[in-house]
Amino acid sequence: MNFFAGIDIGSTAIKVALVDEEGQLTGVHVTDSGSLFHKNAKKALQGLLDQVGVEAGQVKYLIASGYGRKLFKEADDSISEITANAIGAHEVGKAFGGVRTIINIGGQDSKAIQIDDTGNVSNFVMNDKCAAGTGRFLDVAARNLEIDLEELGEYHMNCTKVPLDINSTCTVFAESEIIGLLANGHGKEEIIAGIHYSIAKRTVRLAKRVGLEDRVYFDGGPALNKGLVSAIQDLLGRELVVPDYPQTTTAFGAAILARREFMAEQD
Ligand code: ADP
Repeated sequence: MNFFAGIDIGSTAIKVALVDEEGQLTGVHVTDSGSLFHKNAKKALQGLLDQVGVEAGQVKYLIASGYGRKLFKEADDSISEITANAIGAHEVGKAFGGVRTIINIGGQDSKAIQIDDTGNVSNFVMNDKCAAGTGRFLDVAARNLEIDLEELGEYHMNCTKVPLDINSTCTVFAESEIIGLLANGHGKEEIIAGIHYSIAKRTVRLAKRVGLEDRVYFDGGPALNKGLVSAIQDLLGRELVVPDYPQTTTAFGAAILARREFMAEQD
């Protein structure tokens, strides 16, 4: 059996996805990017192969995507994360009746992407200047609040008070603001809900710049946080499509394209 791989080397995490000859997802794997992108990317790929019991020789084509894609010289091809995300979201979105707008929040940037009904990118906007609307903001907040990243969603859902206004427009100032709120006796729940609403406000502003069409797909690591999902849905006034594996949509898109390119070369 032949397999096709997509590897998304992000600023914060490396994501790998494998599809089979029919284009069905075989498995996904996520590891930290660390500082040694190339070494960690190779390890992530091997980690996925071990996980699903596939030999390296069975992977017939590999496409790299993401921030560090140029460093992965072993790849057969590379593709921008916007194109790969669009291909992956288009494919996953079919089960939800199709998606036309993607909101992606990564470790260091956020994007809103408009796709047509074939999955091609028709427009996109990106914020990579400010960490306040990104996963980095959540990482810093979780550290300041001394809780695990995975717990942020639960705290948000347990908030019974009005979410606090987090006014700082910069992660560094927000850090002091969070510490100040804790010192004034505010609960973690209302602070965390406030942080999620502050990210949601920026995200909705970005999404409106690209235009909201049809069903809206939300992906990237922060889409694993159900508190953030809830805040964005609230401000957007509509349900989001959140896939089972939101962090690996881009790697999946790269794997789909790897299969397509391999098939095209065989013809
Ligand atoms: P990038 O592609 O830029 O590396 P990702 O899409 O992988 O970014 O997202 C990384 C971010 O996802 C982290 O900064 C973190 O805030 C968030 N994240 C990762 N895992 C989880 C989790 N289990 N729950 C909530 N947030 C998470």
